[in-house]
Amino acid sequence: MIIVLKPNHTEAQLEHICEKVEEMGFRYELSRGVQRTLLGVIGEEDELRNAPLKAIAGVESVMSVLKPYKLASREFHEEDSVFELGHGVKIGGGSMILIAGPCAIEGHDVLLEIAQAVKAGGANVLRGGAFKPRTSPYSFQGLGEEGLKILREVGDATEMPVVTEVMDPRQVELVDKYTDILQVGARNMQNFNLLMEVGKTDKPVLLKRGMSATIQDLLMSAEYIIAHGNKNVILCERGIRSFDSSTRNLFDLSMVPNVKGLSHLPIVVDPSHATGRPDLIPSMALAGVAAGADGIHIEVHNCPEKAMSDGPQALLPNQFAEVAKQIRDLAPFFNKELATNPQPVA
Ligand code: PEP
Ligand code: MN
Repeated sequence: MIIVLKPNHTEAQLEHICEKVEEMGFRYELSRGVQRTLLGVIGEEDELRNAPLKAIAGVESVMSVLKPYKLASREFHEEDSVFELGHGVKIGGGSMILIAGPCAIEGHDVLLEIAQAVKAGGANVLRGGAFKPRTSPYSFQGLGEEGLKILREVGDATEMPVVTEVMDPRQVELVDKYTDILQVGARNMQNFNLLMEVGKTDKPVLLKRGMSATIQDLLMSAEYIIAHGNKNVILCERGIRSFDSSTRNLFDLSMVPNVKGLSHLPIVVDPSHATGRPDLIPSMALAGVAAGADGIHIEVHNCPEKAMSDGPQALLPNQFAEVAKQIRDLAPFFNKELATNPQPVA
């Protein structure tokens, strides 16, 4: 059971609630978020259900949640969450997003060219990494702040909200200055210090599933962010490790309807990192729509063989435009709308 305190509760009211809960024979866990204070009340199911918790002064509402993730759970928030991302783009509750762009920001002109092409093709969110989590220390690590500036400029010029990865708690303030959406990558899904830090911002967070993370691990990581005051968490399925090497990862599509039953948070699927193969990305993107995803994430480059990161999995702009049209046409069959402004690509 969760007790949600009134936003303007006093310390005396909180103390009183804690005393009353103990008097009723229950234990409690206190969670002070930036916005709300919550008490997780632990005790016997039936007794909890019949306890007059709601009548205590300072209590706004009482919810029954048995899972370890509370604030991320569907029980805590019945309706699908809907977030504003900037430039009038929304995710959740029937609004779909299409995130596209290169793996890494490589320079102003190349990003602008790709951004214009994906916008024309039907994307409504621009991606690009300035801090890249590379397996090899000798690979291109990203342009850092210079890359963030370019991303901001190009996002504004093409009127799209932008998303970029933040790898370290010490980078959060800097990345937050330039981006609309903070991305926590698969390798950092359980970097709890990072989760707490992005939880203190008010920017939507694209939380990518770790490559060996269970559904519960993912939702517990979302819980970290929400418990620190930021409820704008977007989950992202980007494939998990498997024994098969014909694809980069195993695209766990059943995760989408599975998590939809468990959580109110919007879900994006990323067939680019999940498959690592341009020939599989279009069909898997459409499968993502059919599975109920609220967004699709696709890496695009105008010259994949010259890309400084993830070139082999990048779609060309014309390939992207084709799948974007199919996504847009398919979405209404699943009660979704991809609101974009595609232009014919030359
Ligand atoms: C990326 O989005 O470029 C990326 C590194 O993704 P992931 O964390 O899913 O590997
Ligand atoms: Mn990538």
